[in-house]
Amino acid sequence: MWANLISWSKKEFSDLPWRRKRSVYGTLVSEIMLQQTTVSTVINHFERFITKYPTLSAIARMSDEEMLLAWKGLGYYRRAKNLKKIAEIIVSDYEDEIPCDLDLLLKINGIGPYTANAIVGIGYDKPALAVDANLERVLARIYGIETPKGPRLQKQILQLFLEKKIIPQRHLSFRELNEALMDLGRTICQSKKAACEICPLKKECQAFKTNKVKQIPVISEEASKKVSHELKLLRIVVKTSEGVMAYKKGQGQWLEGQWEIPTFVISCDDKNFKQYPKAKDEIDFNKLPFIKTGITKYSIENYILTLSVKQWKSFAINGEYEWLKGEEINHLSTSSLKCLEKIK
Ligand code: SF4
Repeated sequence: MWANLISWSKKEFSDLPWRRKRSVYGTLVSEIMLQQTTVSTVINHFERFITKYPTLSAIARMSDEEMLLAWKGLGYYRRAKNLKKIAEIIVSDYEDEIPCDLDLLLKINGIGPYTANAIVGIGYDKPALAVDANLERVLARIYGIETPKGPRLQKQILQLFLEKKIIPQRHLSFRELNEALMDLGRTICQSKKAACEICPLKKECQAFKTNKVKQIPVISEEASKKVSHELKLLRIVVKTSEGVMAYKKGQGQWLEGQWEIPTFVISCDDKNFKQYPKAKDEIDFNKLPFIKTGITKYSIENYILTLSVKQWKSFAINGEYEWLKGEEINHLSTSSLKCLEKIK
């Protein structure tokens, strides 16, 4: 059964850049890049990043600003800061060598259970299972585990794996197994759409055999009550020969340390939302061009208003704004850059 899965994965996905030329460093970087980001986005950035910064020392030497710039296009900049922090610790405490030990890895600030298991399982090809939402779903379906989705299910899967009750551990490459399960979850065994008919595991899959694919993983009552929030933002573009007007996000704000175009809240159904000031009521945002983005539990519509400097002044906004010019414009957050792109 696993041999089928692994040969399917190798046939379809062995050409991913981080699988072509292996290194534990490459595994660490690609796994951090792949968290909350699609494979196609990471494909566009991985090689460029790893060519320019081929070692952890090279990352550790970068300034915070340079690191954010190097991460451009990948979003979720907290990960860039994390990777830099991880690099600094491994360079100083482990002589630049990534440990092959789950306990040691988990002591490194910024490395959680998923990344630690990915480093050991994929990077070092040793017994370890990188259980994220993908592997959680796939393994719960294959073994028909009906524990509600979440940390308890992930822990149960890891425990079953450690007790050798799931997944035979002989004659198996853990690297290939982890990657094949990830590939299956990403492409065939998706959360809302499982293409069981073409799945290499359909003969063995408990959920498929018992017609429970839609019910597994089980969603707890508590989780099914959780809502996502609708957020409408007004994004203002002021462009002159001096550059693009922007401000730097402060501590505790989304995208802390990033540059952003002036942004205001038009509406939000989360009364506790306090990331941006309120927009003026008289703006008819419905006529403005807009793009959709998302962050954490917020689904965002960004309405883009272009203003001259004079109009901006009459907008009477307090705050420290600066002009970003030339290359500096690339320091803007991805959503700000998308807004600029939209009105080009
Ligand atoms: S048979 Fe269906 S539910 Fe089972 S692993 Fe394959 S795609 Fe997922």
